[in-house]
Amino acid sequence: MKFIDEYRDAELGKKLVSRIGQLSAQPARLMEFCGGHTVAIMRNGIRQLLPATVEMLSGPGCPVCVTANADIDKAIALARLPDVTITTFGDMMKVPGSYSSLQQARGEGADIRVVYSTQDALQIARDNPQTSVVFIGIGFETTAPTIAAAVLQAEQESIENFYVLCLLKLCPPIMKALLDLGEIKLDGIVCPGHVSAIIGSQPYEFIPRDYGIACVVSGFEPLDILLSIAMLVEQIEEGKPRVEIAYRRGVRPEGNKRALELMSAVFEVDEADWRGIGVVPASGLKLGKEYARFDAEWAFPVTLEPVREAKGCICGDILRGVKTPTDCRLFRKVCLPEHPVGPCMVSSEGACAAYYQYGADYG
Ligand code: SF4
Repeated sequence: MKFIDEYRDAELGKKLVSRIGQLSAQPARLMEFCGGHTVAIMRNGIRQLLPATVEMLSGPGCPVCVTANADIDKAIALARLPDVTITTFGDMMKVPGSYSSLQQARGEGADIRVVYSTQDALQIARDNPQTSVVFIGIGFETTAPTIAAAVLQAEQESIENFYVLCLLKLCPPIMKALLDLGEIKLDGIVCPGHVSAIIGSQPYEFIPRDYGIACVVSGFEPLDILLSIAMLVEQIEEGKPRVEIAYRRGVRPEGNKRALELMSAVFEVDEADWRGIGVVPASGLKLGKEYARFDAEWAFPVTLEPVREAKGCICGDILRGVKTPTDCRLFRKVCLPEHPVGPCMVSSEGACAAYYQYGADYG
């Protein structure tokens, strides 16, 4: 197939649905790790097409959602410092921290600008040498190479006023942490497409080997997802879990060498604080010693109030796959996209936002 429409072909979709139905004899509980997949599944009504034997759970693969309140509080505290400009992706603006949000802080006078890339943030730093420009670096392995490239460029151009609040997170370690928690029993994982374009499929090999769970790397179109589910069901029925790539047009087993080199040149692996999961060793990236001068946490130490979680919000449980948005008593009543209580209702990749927007029967 050459064109994106071909990955949305209804006839091929029906054939894949029927194939899944024919293959699936035993119960199969699958997790789509990535928030982008959750949205695609909800938008295309894929859950409703699957046989009763196949259950889909949403996972923690939404970078905004997994950002801990403590880190959002840190970003807000940085925004309130004099002569500091915060640059961030738009999804972060409305995410409530313990006491406020970036949007509220902007309303109170903080200089916070929405950008579409790290390069935009770097440009703001070039254009405003009198202020310190901090980029809120959230994301997974997909975003990390672009941040690494911006840091290298800032170094090369001797840009003295560019900083990163480095909140980057790594997918395979959090998958391991989730499985080790033992709260959910999974038979298969729909592995993230964009992340795997960077890291490849090899880092998931431990999942079938150590946990007996099938893995298929999926793209984001409806046929990509249906094909991935069919491949997972086939593995489960055969009793031979392994790592396969359904998203062959985007992912190679070894990943993207150049992007991986960029990441390891600039970052080092460190612990990271995940909403709903807590601090997980070796599950995040921090700027390496050589680039420590770009680290906003190092350059601008801030004192924070004690962290508070929003009362009644179960985002943490949803991110661990233990609950779904419809289990939250605030869903659609108190918590709405216009008045989000938690990040899963704010982010374009959040499970609550996807259920709200597309979940006719909240499948
Ligand atoms: Fe949190 Fe709102 Fe989702 Fe409930 S519906 S879990 S309050 S984001």
